[in-house]
This record gives sequence, structure tokens and C-alpha cells, in this order.
Amino acid sequence: MTTITLDHISKSFQRETVIGVGTADATQAVDNVSLKIISGDVLAVLGPSGCGKSTLLRLIAGLLKPDSGHILYDNVDIEQVPLSERGIGMVFQDNALIPHWEARRSVGFFLSLRRREHEVPERLLRISKITGIGLDQLLARRPSQLSGGEQQRVAIARALARDLRILLFDEPFANIDAKLRTESRGELKRLLNEFPVTAVYVTHDQSEAVALSHRVAVMRAGRLEQVGTYQQLYDNPINVFVATFIGTPTINLFSGKVRGGRWWGENFGGFAIRGDLAEGSAVMLGIRPDGIHLHSKDTAGITPAVVDGVTPFFAERYQLIEVHLAGEHWALTVPYLSSEQRISAGETVYCTLDPTNALYFDGETGHRIG
Ligand code: ADP
Ligand code: MG
Repeated sequence: MTTITLDHISKSFQRETVIGVGTADATQAVDNVSLKIISGDVLAVLGPSGCGKSTLLRLIAGLLKPDSGHILYDNVDIEQVPLSERGIGMVFQDNALIPHWEARRSVGFFLSLRRREHEVPERLLRISKITGIGLDQLLARRPSQLSGGEQQRVAIARALARDLRILLFDEPFANIDAKLRTESRGELKRLLNEFPVTAVYVTHDQSEAVALSHRVAVMRAGRLEQVGTYQQLYDNPINVFVATFIGTPTINLFSGKVRGGRWWGENFGGFAIRGDLAEGSAVMLGIRPDGIHLHSKDTAGITPAVVDGVTPFFAERYQLIEVHLAGEHWALTVPYLSSEQRISAGETVYCTLDPTNALYFDGETGHRIG
């Protein structure tokens, strides 16, 4: 296992320009990223498409050179570590397995290269034990006889059959269907527990990030916004971006202003806020959908709102109610099985906002202020 250190890493790409039209323009794919991935950790890199996740992974692998900054494996600059000694396995979105080889040979290939074929059966047995009978059956087949999901499992087994220290994943399950994705995720989690490696797992899917990793690094536009456990990111997001990116259903945001030491918005307000904020300053309040409650009409301090839509989440046993009043839209969750709360679009419901778990953000910068 290896501790990976990224020390102020930046990487930009020259944009293709049509000759004679405009000037060359650069995309800052990775922008001054510093990060430590401790030995044996599984870190998820989470962010929207195009934010620089794959570029970061290729930098960590040494497939790309940073424009500035250093990458260290156990305090040794990666440039001083020959490719053959880096001990890195990579699994990409679409893996090229060698078409005419049966999967068993593909899995054992790297060990056989090092004349350690005798280790293959034992490793394969360990991998098969964890994954159940699935892999055993897959190993006798050729890629054309394997589905996309099965090919990914063979690719992961191949990476683990090698004697490696670092495993890098770039959205390996992005192109397989939901049920198999959940299964494969569980399988990979068990494999990562069994085989001690330092792993980086790139994904745009937060449920995948939370299922597989110990810590999550949230990226936006090349920059690292925040690193922490999923719970830390959920409870204590550093800014509006992390607050809206983490958590399902998405957090509600309300614009408002500070008046007399309290936060006041268009439809809710009067909540005590930090005392050092200037009178009249713009502050955004964030509240997750379970922090807004429904009430009967006669409750004091209620806010009436019109229902736009109701979405049942059967597995999670709640329904998501989306409402609006004047220009503001918000959403709340109510238990799915509560029969007295059968709600339909167009009707009026009565809401209160419980400020206990409210998050406050600077209205200009989006930084968390309370
Ligand atoms: P992600 O994996 O998060 O979707 P990428 O790392 O693939 O993001 O890309 C980050 C940014 O860098 C994007 O704007 C992308 O268009 C650009 N980019 C990535 N690779 C190259 C390349 N080889 N040449 C030019 N631009 C690139
Ligand atoms: Mg990518």
C-alpha cells in the first residue's frame, strides 16, 4: 500500500483553435489541487461531468505530467519511480479485454509476465470466493461471451490479480444497468476490504461514492471544493455548491436578508442568525427537504403553498412534495405510508420551516457562514 500526496497540482489543455480565428485558449482541467490519500484509504472523487476527475486520475497514475506541482508515492516523486515499479492498476469506463483470450488468461496475464503464474490460482480463488460463483463462471469465457457488466468484473479481477499498491477507477460501472451496478458495487467493496490497496474511485454518482469510499473529494471546475466523509460533507458543506451537490433529494435554498440579528426571507423567516453580520446583508438559507413540515391550516405561523408535483420514492418510503409560493419553489418529504397525507398537485398545503438544521451561506460568494 502507498500514501499518495498531491502537492499543488495544476494541468491545463490547449484548446483546438481554427487557424486564423481567435487566439489559443487553455482549459484549466485541474487547478491547484492538494490532497493526501493515506495508505489503504478508498477515496472517491465526485463531481459533475467535465470538472477534471479523469484528468486528476491520469495525473495520479503518471499517465499525464502536471504543468506544476508534485505527485509523491510514499514521499518519493512519481517521476523517480519507474513505470514498472509503480504498482498501479486502472479500471476505466470501458475496458478493453483482449478479444480472443478467455477471461482466466486475461486475469493471470500480469502475474505470468513476471513469471509468477503459480500465484494465479490462489489469487483467483480468493477473488472468486468474495464475488461468489459469478466470477468462476465468467473466467472460462471470451469477451464476446461476456456482457458489459461482466467484462468490468473481469477487468477488476485482472487488476486485483496483479501485485499492486494503487488501484484507480474511472467510472467503471457507468455503462451498466442499475441492478447490476448495485451488485458490482457490493462486490467491489468486498474486494477492496480483502485486498489491501490505496484506491481512488472517480464518479459523478454520489450514491456510488458513499457506498464505496471512506472519504469523498468534491471537485468543481478543476478545483477541489471539499474533502471529508459523506456525513461531514452532508452536515457541514463548505459552500452552496457542495450543499447542493451532496444529498438526495437536493437541499432547498431561500434568498433572504439580515434584519435585527435575524434571517428573513420572502416566505419564511425570523430565525436567529450569527450576530456579526451587517444589517441588510444578503444571506441564503439552505434546508434539506426533511426540515420542512406540513401542518393543518390552523397552526400559527404557517406558510401556504401550492403543490406542483408529488413523486413517490417507494424504496425509501417517502414521497417528495414540490411546491411553490410567489416566486419561491421548495420541496419537502413526507412518509409514503401516511394515509391522511395523500396529497395531489394543485392543492394547497401548509408548511413550516424548522431552522434547527438550517445552513447559512453568504448571498454573494456562496461561502458557508453559519
Ligand atoms: P471529467 O472526467 O470530470 O468529466 P475531464 O478530466 O475529462 O473531466 O476533463 C476536464 C476538462 O479538460 C474538460 O473541459 C475537458 O474538455 C478537458 N480535457 C480533458 N482532456 C483533454 C485533452 N486531452 N485535450 C483537451 N482538453 C481536454
Ligand atoms: Mg471522466
